[in-house]
Amino acid sequence: MQGRRLLMIPGPIEFTYEVLAETSKPTLSHVDPQFIEEFGQALEKMRKVWLAPSGQPFIVAGSGTLAMELAVANITEPGDRVLILHTGYFSDRMGDIFRRHGAEVEVVASEPGDVAGVKAVKARLAAGSYKILSITHVDTSTGVRTDVHSLAKVAAEHGALVLVDGVCSVGGEALDMEAWGVDIALTASQKAIGTPPGLALLVASRRAIETFRARKKPVSSYYCDWSNWLPVMEAYEARKAAYFGTPAVNLVRALNVSLDQILAEGMEARLARHARHAAAFRAGMRAMGLSFVPARESLYANTLSAIWYPQGIDASVLGLISEEGAMLAGGLHPAIKTRYFRVGHMGMTNAEEILAVTGAIERAFARAGWKSEPGAAVAAAQRMLLG
Ligand SMILES: *Cc1c(COP(=O)(O)O)cnc(C)c1O
Repeated sequence: MQGRRLLMIPGPIEFTYEVLAETSKPTLSHVDPQFIEEFGQALEKMRKVWLAPSGQPFIVAGSGTLAMELAVANITEPGDRVLILHTGYFSDRMGDIFRRHGAEVEVVASEPGDVAGVKAVKARLAAGSYKILSITHVDTSTGVRTDVHSLAKVAAEHGALVLVDGVCSVGGEALDMEAWGVDIALTASQKAIGTPPGLALLVASRRAIETFRARKKPVSSYYCDWSNWLPVMEAYEARKAAYFGTPAVNLVRALNVSLDQILAEGMEARLARHARHAAAFRAGMRAMGLSFVPARESLYANTLSAIWYPQGIDASVLGLISEEGAMLAGGLHPAIKTRYFRVGHMGMTNAEEILAVTGAIERAFARAGWKSEPGAAVAAAQRMLLG
């Protein structure tokens, strides 16, 4: 499209016309019966996308970081022991938030691009009595995906609550919240959920809500306190008006449309599409001789790829890729920040966009002096899409 670049960073992403059009409608009162209906529907649809039939959804105006704090603030009391499986930038942030709320945080460390195995986590859980195991499902700083299913099993054996930062996974990676025994799974609107930035989204298990209700001390953040938000979510779902803080009306309506699109495609089909497009994109990068930040193929996420710059290429190539039509992201993990770039392929990404971004990278790398067979990357991606 003339004058428009494809936005393929790991959030915000490209949004559908229907979702964008919804945001531009005249703003309704937050107690308008139509808005109450749509808010109620959005909460119900979240349960289906999260696969958490008995979970409690929350929709609060804010970014993914607020979703993280909404989770931490309500289930943590001073002195609680928390184990963080470290994968990069966003697990560091989760640790900071836990510490701010008085938790004693311990970390299972790993090298950039890697993550400790389930056995190592099991040993740590057995050695200490932890209230919470915190996992970043897909670490957006490295493109590493963790095995939430196995980790949640191990946490259950040791009685720990499982908190999943799914900001780069919910709606794009398999996350069967209730069957896997996840207690809180959170995300933000602008990632695989496919709604413009501005909504913190979270689903809490019954056990997480019970943990909150059994608190001895009040929640130390006024805005985050579920005591304020829970009655509002319950009211909207019962199709009644309620107020604590004005909801982001236009965004909630857009979210409702986006969740419809997700459920219309179907979770299984959607996850399969993410896997297929990720594989096609990576086949293209490999054909150019490029390699990936995650240490092993089993760690590669389907929502984004983190790619090493080869010899002689640096972050200035991102400007060339932008000129060729695609906005990509630089590195984020502090230890390797200048050595790689990131490409988001989540949400409604289609085959056309996968080929377009692959072509843009191929042309920009050629302009930057990288030698590879012209068209090989696009051909490899196309072959995978056809296969
Ligand atoms: C993007 C992201 C966040 C932070 O979300 P914001 O909306 O930028 O606050 C947290 N965790 C992960 C895994 C993310 O990808």
